[in-house]
Amino acid sequence: MVETLDARHAVYVGSFDPPTLGHRDIISRGARLFERVTVGIGINPDKTPLFTSDERLSLLGDIVAPLQNVDVACFEGLAVDFVRKCGASVMLRGMRTLTDIEAEFTLTLANRSLAPDIETVFLMASEQYTSVSSTLIKQIASMGRDGSIEQLGEFVPSTVIEPLLAKYRDERSNAT
Ligand code: ADP
Repeated sequence: MVETLDARHAVYVGSFDPPTLGHRDIISRGARLFERVTVGIGINPDKTPLFTSDERLSLLGDIVAPLQNVDVACFEGLAVDFVRKCGASVMLRGMRTLTDIEAEFTLTLANRSLAPDIETVFLMASEQYTSVSSTLIKQIASMGRDGSIEQLGEFVPSTVIEPLLAKYRDERSNAT
């Protein structure tokens, strides 16, 4: 039997450790383009993320709550296998810089050879979010400087700020 994948359903995969305003922007723009969007949180057993998969699921759940056609799930293994499991034929990705293009190009070619029936669609980052990354956010939060809350508010949804600062507060109090 030939399975039919839905071209109106896109899956946006990533680590989302933590989710940022850049991610939220891609999700909401994707939700306007596709009938359905599934956000897939990739679980890599070899990496130790700052936020557990359940925490990321909950943070992203809050972010997508206003969007009727978006759902969130965790997955392990290959992204293309998760996209197929969802019954979708589109993998959605965001693109910020030339460095992103290079990495994404290689990834897309590999995914295409693994799953030729799944198409990767890129949305260019909105101008104000081109320099926003989960790594940058973790660096800012880890410094624990005055004004971090205001600064983080430019990069992450308000619901992410307190859980993020709490992670580093816990780390600092464990160190003393
Ligand atoms: P990964 O570990 O797959 O890079 P990320 O959570 O960092 O996971 O990113 C998921 C996807 O979102 C990737 O396609 C990445 O390029 C894109 N992305 C990340 N940050 C932004 C941003 N600020 N604007 C647009 N796209 C972004």
